[in-house]
Amino acid sequence: MSLRDLPAMHRFLGEPDVAGYAALFGTTAVKTAVDDVLRDVRSHAVRDSVAIPAYDVMLARVRARLAREENDGLVDVLNGTGIVLHTNLGRAPLAPEALAAMHEIAGGYSNLEFDLATGTRGSRYARVNALLRATTGAEDALVVNNCAAAILLILDTFARSSVPGRAGREVIVSRNQLVEIGGGFRLPDVLRRSGATLVEVGTTNKVYLRDFERALSSETALLMRSHTSNYSIEGFVSDVAPAELAALGKRVGVPTVEDLGSGVLVDLAPYGLPHERTVGEVVADGIDLVAFSGDKLLGGPQSGIIVGTASAIARMRANPLLRALRVDKATLAALGATLRLYVQPNGHERIPFYAMMRATREDLRARVHAFIERLGYDYDERVAGVETLAYAGGGAAPTATVPSYALALRDGRTNPNAFAARLRARAPRVVARVEGDAALVDFRTIPPERETDLARAIVATLS
Ligand SMILES: *Cc1c(COP(=O)(O)O)cnc(C)c1O
Repeated sequence: MSLRDLPAMHRFLGEPDVAGYAALFGTTAVKTAVDDVLRDVRSHAVRDSVAIPAYDVMLARVRARLAREENDGLVDVLNGTGIVLHTNLGRAPLAPEALAAMHEIAGGYSNLEFDLATGTRGSRYARVNALLRATTGAEDALVVNNCAAAILLILDTFARSSVPGRAGREVIVSRNQLVEIGGGFRLPDVLRRSGATLVEVGTTNKVYLRDFERALSSETALLMRSHTSNYSIEGFVSDVAPAELAALGKRVGVPTVEDLGSGVLVDLAPYGLPHERTVGEVVADGIDLVAFSGDKLLGGPQSGIIVGTASAIARMRANPLLRALRVDKATLAALGATLRLYVQPNGHERIPFYAMMRATREDLRARVHAFIERLGYDYDERVAGVETLAYAGGGAAPTATVPSYALALRDGRTNPNAFAARLRARAPRVVARVEGDAALVDFRTIPPERETDLARAIVATLS
């Protein structure tokens, strides 16, 4: 068959199942899929002298592409933004160990709530709790769906009124920590929603321990701290040290809680980031309950973790709401495997976040220039290397950047936003960042093993 004999578009569109896809996501999308397959065939024939396959083979490829689009409302993307924990792009990529554990446990039966020694019902959380105790120094732990659920469970357990319709008990929070983290999570609203009564103390810039002391009443349920994940207050400021607040709580018999947000288990300084208090440090400060996400700096699956004193955790374990917030076996398998890495020497560097953060700008510069060289001189004018700044993301060190290096793409004719849109339009999809007249692909967030896919995407978009 010669190129002139390639089947026409309408022949594919005439196939009943292909036509069915047009009803599902539009004729344009189906035509694009057919076009893609025909273009691949043409370019293989011209460039690599590969024989043109039979119509049925091409039809199978069209079907495979459409099936993928159908399954993949959720599709794989290459993150060129340089934001390592990007909430909109799925936050923390999982370590190979976590993926393997999910694969093994989710694909079959397991001892999820079964004690293999006695052959009777066991605890869903026992194994992961032991790991959380070992990695944080806390007495006990609980796992729920996300950090927002963890906060909800804490407030519902300690601050909701037991009398229906009655205002909840009081939670004291300093004004400089009344955070909105996005996605509709505003601390004052969450407090109200959970039936607690918010008592604000201090001012935006200055809060003292005596502000908390003065606000104490017989209705005080909790003294609460929150991580200011996405802002910082600088200048004429003063804050209450966590250990001071914990000591006050112990003195007056009111539990203290800290919404840590990201929740880091290791020192971030070796990764060029400012030190964030680790969960272990917060526990050591004497805070009774610490809540944090499983899929931010911890690098695990979406989950919310609460660690704290045995008595505080026991109260939450008795809350019927826990049943509604519980996590599934795949999450527990992945979380357990991720936490296990933290008890091995440097095991956490197997977690993609830490592997990506470890690269220096020089490492990335070398990768970008080798990549440009491999693309070949056809692309010389349109690709270049450029120094950038990358972010950890995920609510840690909100204003901190790390030196990074990106591929800058310019095709001269198209404006960079349209060009970036083309990079996202078809697989392998690349989410680039537009800066000036270029679309940037920061190599900090491109795993080396995905460079071939990246090259494919760029060649397809530039040609
Ligand atoms: C991210 C964050 C949360 C919410 O965590 P999710 O796991 O997304 O629910 C809550 N509080 C703070 C301070 C955060 O940074």
